[in-house]
Amino acid sequence: MEEEAFDAIVIGGGVAGLSAAMTLARANMKFLLVERGEFAGAKNVSGGVLWGSDLAKLVPQYWEEEDGGWERFVNHRRLSLMDEQSAFTLDFKSSHWNQPPYTGVVVLRARFDNWLAGKVQEAIDASDFAEESFIATDIKVDQVLMEGGRAVGIKTGDEEFYAKVVIIAEGVNNLLTRQVGLQTEYVPADHMLTGIKEIIRFDQQRLEDRFQLRGRSGMSNEFVGWATDGVEGGGFLYTNKDTLSVGLVLSIADLRAQKKSPHDILSHFKTHPVVADAIEGGEVVEYSAHVVSSGDKRAMPREVYADGVLIIGEAANLLLNAGKAIQGMDYAMRSGILAAETVVEAKEAGDFSVGKLADYRKKLDASYIMKDINGFQDAVHVLHDPIMQHKVPNILCDFGRSFFSIDNQPTAKSKDMILDAVRRHSSLWEMAKFGFKAGRSL
Ligand SMILES: Cc1cc2nc3c(=O)[nH]c(=O)nc-3n(C[C@H](O)[C@H](O)[C@H](O)COP(=O)(O)OP(=O)(O)OC[C@H]3O[C@@H](n4cnc5c(N)ncnc54)[C@H](O)[C@@H]3O)c2cc1C
Repeated sequence: MEEEAFDAIVIGGGVAGLSAAMTLARANMKFLLVERGEFAGAKNVSGGVLWGSDLAKLVPQYWEEEDGGWERFVNHRRLSLMDEQSAFTLDFKSSHWNQPPYTGVVVLRARFDNWLAGKVQEAIDASDFAEESFIATDIKVDQVLMEGGRAVGIKTGDEEFYAKVVIIAEGVNNLLTRQVGLQTEYVPADHMLTGIKEIIRFDQQRLEDRFQLRGRSGMSNEFVGWATDGVEGGGFLYTNKDTLSVGLVLSIADLRAQKKSPHDILSHFKTHPVVADAIEGGEVVEYSAHVVSSGDKRAMPREVYADGVLIIGEAANLLLNAGKAIQGMDYAMRSGILAAETVVEAKEAGDFSVGKLADYRKKLDASYIMKDINGFQDAVHVLHDPIMQHKVPNILCDFGRSFFSIDNQPTAKSKDMILDAVRRHSSLWEMAKFGFKAGRSL
C-alpha cells in the first residue's frame, strides 16, 4: 500500500482543488484529484469575479491565451443602494486596472474550472508523474478512510485509494469535513446564504455599448436594499463576454422566517428600473442555485487540518463578504496553494505527521485570508444589520432624489436634505451610532 500511495488525494475539482493540484503537479508530486461532476466545473456556480492575481501565479500570462477560461477583466466597479424607484451608486472606473495581471476577472465556473483543469493536466504531463498522477471525473468520494485516527485515503464505490495526505476541497456542503470530525457542529442556517443566478445572453456589441466596455474590459455591480425584497442579503450583476450574470445571495434563515422564495425575489429584483434597463432585450439561458457561506467565521470548522487531512476553500468556509465584494474563489485558490505547499514541504522533510501538517494553519493565519476574515468580522455583521439592509439605502435614495431634483423651488441646503432623509427613515441618534460602528468596522 505504501508504495502505491499517492503523495496526496484532492477531493473536489473546484477552484480550491484545482489550485492545490496545479501546485502539486508543478512540484513533481504524485497525486489523484477526484471530482464528482462530469467535468471540473460541471457542478459549480458563481457570480463570479475571481479577485486578486493568484491566477497569474498558477497560469502565468493567462491573459495572452485567445480562449482562456475567463470572460472579462474588471475596470469598473459599482455599489448601488436601492429603494423601490432609485439606486444611489458609488461608481469607480479606472484605467489603472487595465493592465495584467488584473485585479479581478469575471468567470463562468463551468468554463473556467474546465479550462483550469486542462492547465493542471498540462502540468501533470510535464511532471515526473505524467503516468501516475490523475484527474478523475464523474466519481464521487463516499468516505475518507481512517486508520487509527489518521486519514489514509478515500473510498469511492467499491474502490479504495491511499495517500499520505487527503486534501478536502469539497466546497460548502462539507460532508466529508464533518465525517473526519473537523466540523462536528450543525452549522446554523443564519451563517449560510443561498445564491441564485441567471445568465442572460445578448448580442455582444449591444452588451458592450450598453455598459461602455472596450475589448475585454468589464463591470461588477453589487446591490443592497430593495433588491432582496426585505430579506437579508444582496444582489449582483457582472458582465461576461456576451452575457450578464445577475443574481442574489439571500439569508437562508430569513427566507425561512419570511416564507419567501429566492426565485420570486429574483423576479422582484429584475423589475427595479436600474436592473430592468440593464437586462432589457436579453434572453435568460441558464439558471442555477447554490449555498454560499456568509463570511461569519463562526461557521468555520474547528480546525483546518487533522492527522492526514487538510481542508481548503469553502469546505473550510473560507469566504468574506464585508460589503465590497464576495471573496470566495480567491480564498479557495490561495488556500489550495498553501495546502499543497505544506504537502510538498512535508514530503521534502519526510514528515507527514500532524505536527508538520499544522504548518498549513500557520500559513493560512499569516496570509491575507485569515487576516481579512478576522479583521472584517464586524463589517460582515454591519452588512447584515437591518439598518444597513433597509434604512441606509432608503435614506441615501431619498437624499439623492432631493439633491438631484431641480424643480423651480428654492433649493434646500444639502445638510438639511440629508437630515430630512434621516428623520424620515430613522433618527439622528440611531444613524450616529450606526455610522460610528460602520466606520470602525471598515
Ligand atoms: C451565487 C454565488 C455567487 C458567488 N460570487 C462570487 C464572486 O463573485 N466571487 C468569489 O470569489 N466568490 C463567489 N462565490 C463563492 C465561490 O463560488 C466559492 O467560494 C468557491 O466556489 C469555493 O471554491 P471551492 O473550490 O472551495 O468549492 P466549489 O467551487 O464548490 O468546488 C467544490 C468541488 O468539489 C466537488 N465535490 C464535492 N463533494 C465531492 C465528493 N464527495 N466527491 C468528489 N467531488 C466532490 C464539487 O462537485 C465541486 O466541483 C459565489 C457563490 C455563489 C453561490
